[in-house]
Amino acid sequence: MIFMTTPRIDINIAKIAHNAKELKKLYGSKGVGVIGVTKMGCGDPNIANAIIKSGISVLADSKIANIRRMRDAGVKAQFVLLRTPIPSQVEDVVRYTDISLNSELSVIKALSKSAVKQDITHKIILMVELGDLREGVMPSDLEDIVREVIELGGIEFVGIGTNLACFGGIKPDEEKMGHLSSIARDVEEKFKLTLEFVSGGNSANYSWFISTEDIGRINNLRLGESIYLGCESLYRKPIPGLFTDAFTLVTEVIESKIKPSVPYGEVCQDAFGNVPVFQNHGQIRRAILGVGLQDVLVSGLTPRLDIDILGASSDHTIINAKQIDLKVGDEVEFDLNYGALLLAMTSPYVIKKYVDYI
Ligand SMILES: *Cc1c(COP(=O)(O)O)cnc(C)c1O
Repeated sequence: MIFMTTPRIDINIAKIAHNAKELKKLYGSKGVGVIGVTKMGCGDPNIANAIIKSGISVLADSKIANIRRMRDAGVKAQFVLLRTPIPSQVEDVVRYTDISLNSELSVIKALSKSAVKQDITHKIILMVELGDLREGVMPSDLEDIVREVIELGGIEFVGIGTNLACFGGIKPDEEKMGHLSSIARDVEEKFKLTLEFVSGGNSANYSWFISTEDIGRINNLRLGESIYLGCESLYRKPIPGLFTDAFTLVTEVIESKIKPSVPYGEVCQDAFGNVPVFQNHGQIRRAILGVGLQDVLVSGLTPRLDIDILGASSDHTIINAKQIDLKVGDEVEFDLNYGALLLAMTSPYVIKKYVDYI
């Protein structure tokens, strides 16, 4: 047996592949294609290949470094840059990605220049603002921008998209999707073209998709969280038939003692500048886990045992083990929410272990 240290994240490739396949089938049943979003795993090639094996052939990431990582590892896909390009990176955007999501004409012009120089055609999807107030051009400005974009050399205008439920927490509902559809129809009619992508959103679009009678012109979604965590992202409800436990954070007990539940001495600031407040439960079974805020978003962890997380500092997580007799060296497992997963996958201190069976 291979010795595996902690903190560690166990990544179940088979469960991720299952989720991706089921989602592709579900959305495909109404003609909506799926782009697999890889940013959560920093472009992990094992995860990317699991998604591809499920029949999804377009992958999207917000960072060029992640897309390069996948390309260098030989992942075969079309690559989409999700985040509006950083102006100083346009050359690499053209070099390493096939499609980018855009909302600034000056950046698209720079992409055009670079594409012409590199003798490449770079595809762009224009993001439209529908109220979440992150990226996107205002609908009233879209026509003017499209008119300029379709004239640019080295650029192919392949679609429009929107992103909701990210910054402003705005729900992608019937009205928002209907609006995007009508914008798509207007653009197609006005400029006599067919949009290959009308990309309606992300994992938050699930309940709209399930309940709508008419998907309109929406033909694409960009999915991350629902592939990895098996849930939609408005209410974090599990999606039937998907695994919600493809990822497990495994930690280890480094101290276990009966101690008071309230610190004693003069109370000042903690490690992060807060003045902590504690409830008195008398003497409790306290355990320290060798994992902390530099490794994972501790507030996004849910223990699989009946124990409580009391708090964390950079490298320690303190738990109330309650009735469980945790011993030094015992492994303690947690489910992770999206934020916790993002940090754990990004932390170089958290070991990644791949499991490929269900
Ligand atoms: C991260 C991201 C997604 C994926 O969102 P999930 O909620 O993980 O499905 C889709 N689109 C854009 C623009 C993103 O940045």
